[in-house]
Amino acid sequence: MGGGSPMDLAKCVCLLVHHDPPLEQYAILRGGISRITSNMPRLIAVPTTAGSGSEVGRAALLTLSSQGKLGFLSPYLLPRAAICDPELTLSLPPLLTAATGMDAISHCVETYCSPRFNPVADSIALDGLKRGFHHILRATHDGADRQARTEMMLCSLQGGLAFQKGLGAVHSLSHPLGALTGKRLHHGTLNALFLPIVLRFNFDSCAEKMEAMARRLGLKNGAALPDRFARLNQELGLPTKLQEMGLTPEDLIPLAEKARQDHCTPTNPCPLELADLKRLYLEAWQGRPPGSYRNHGKPAGTVD
Ligand SMILES: [Zn+2]
Repeated sequence: MGGGSPMDLAKCVCLLVHHDPPLEQYAILRGGISRITSNMPRLIAVPTTAGSGSEVGRAALLTLSSQGKLGFLSPYLLPRAAICDPELTLSLPPLLTAATGMDAISHCVETYCSPRFNPVADSIALDGLKRGFHHILRATHDGADRQARTEMMLCSLQGGLAFQKGLGAVHSLSHPLGALTGKRLHHGTLNALFLPIVLRFNFDSCAEKMEAMARRLGLKNGAALPDRFARLNQELGLPTKLQEMGLTPEDLIPLAEKARQDHCTPTNPCPLELADLKRLYLEAWQGRPPGSYRNHGKPAGTVD
């Protein structure tokens, strides 16, 4: 019971009930997927935030003090049941509502843009996106708004159901930052910040999908999407550049290689080279005012 991190921790606790330690041998990066068997107690997940979708996910992300951030993946990690009750999110403070909600929205956007063929997941993601987009401000500004809380809970659930299809550069860029020890950077806050920048970068590789998302959200065209998300972040009171979060370019550049190796990188709509990832980090560090995203496509110049 809790947000994404407590639910992921519960999955790993379940794993260790009948699997021998150490836990890290079951991580994706350690080739652990096939070592995870069905021999696990039943897990019932009860989310108290509307964001991670972990209650319907087969993955767990855990930061080990000795190993850094590790991902675990298995169909057996999927909770046996999920109880999604928006009443449990009524007391979530505004900034956490905004940040976790933007995580859910970024799941819907990124998995919809993933090039893997899964029209069922696409439909779920588009519907979740619409619910989240139209209710995140209401839920943030009035936590007691039950209808907005319900819609955000659905957005999170639908994002979690759909993202089996894979995510993209927003998550590739945010995972290494979230793993920085001593910084405690929030996953959803980072995703919110990267979303407009990545959408602008990916635009040419998923132009039709950008149009479809814009239509679903009632926007004029796909090119308006990055700017609209940048404005939404501002309206939600979320940071709009990484420098506001106490980071320096020197912190960021070494993370580009980790982002390239991230498990979400292969399902980004366009290939991500090391130089692209460095450039995206620096762009996120400098920030862009809303209104400057109109010229879609890759930004000019390279950073090595
Ligand atoms: Zn996420």
